[in-house]
Amino acid sequence: MHKLKIQPIQLPGLELKRPIIISGPCSAETEEQTLNTAKELSARGIKIFRAGIWKPRTRPGAFEGVGTVGLPWLKRVKEETGMFICVEVATSHHVYEAVKFGVDMVWIGARTSANPFAVQEIADALKGLDMPVMVKNPVNPDLELWIGALERLNRAGITRLAAIHRGFSSYDQSEFRNNPQWQIPIELRRRIPELPIITDPSHIGGNRELLAGIAQEAMDLNFDGLIIESHICPDKAWSDAKQQVTPEMLKEILDNLVLRRPKI
Ligand code: PEP
Ligand code: MN
Repeated sequence: MHKLKIQPIQLPGLELKRPIIISGPCSAETEEQTLNTAKELSARGIKIFRAGIWKPRTRPGAFEGVGTVGLPWLKRVKEETGMFICVEVATSHHVYEAVKFGVDMVWIGARTSANPFAVQEIADALKGLDMPVMVKNPVNPDLELWIGALERLNRAGITRLAAIHRGFSSYDQSEFRNNPQWQIPIELRRRIPELPIITDPSHIGGNRELLAGIAQEAMDLNFDGLIIESHICPDKAWSDAKQQVTPEMLKEILDNLVLRRPKI
């Protein structure tokens, strides 16, 4: 038996029904792009907004996020749409800044969840805050490392946890940007049944054409939610342009999901 203490994610005033849907741009780029994307999503019933403020890029020289100047834009999203806002944190400084600007939920990215020192630093910074935290799988297909990150947070008193399945990198070329290796989140659920698992079709697929199929697979496997990147003008996005969809396209993907009795 696992020793984690997991409580449901709670966002004040929001009844979290399955599937939990989180959407927003890969990166907050400008105040206008952030706000316009959020308003379009909110008009389509999306309640939880994601946006990267600090972007861990594989190679230097790519857009590394606007940084703290973007946090007031997210605060405006919250004030003007009533959406809940979440950002990626990779250091204790990110945590302090996010808390200062009223961020409702944070996630730990796939490059960070592979690093126990970084996860520990974040866990320590979150101590005493009742902040829900989502943990992406590490870039490498290592279930123990993923569970280890969840345990570090749990030991710091964070019980409102969820896992994000974003696929695993591989040197081999495949149709996926990151191979889903569904057996790994399935085994995670077997080991920690009460932990919500949210699928990230955007980073698994790497291409907007693949999103609907991956999202449906996640629903067929009875996972708990989806985090999908959206942008007011996806082809002009400063990061992950190929995999982002307009709020309108997102709505179509969600409307076409078949929530039938799951296979597993
Ligand atoms: C992201 O969510 O935009 C991101 C950087 O994802 P990952 O950590 O899964 O690569
Ligand atoms: Mn992205």
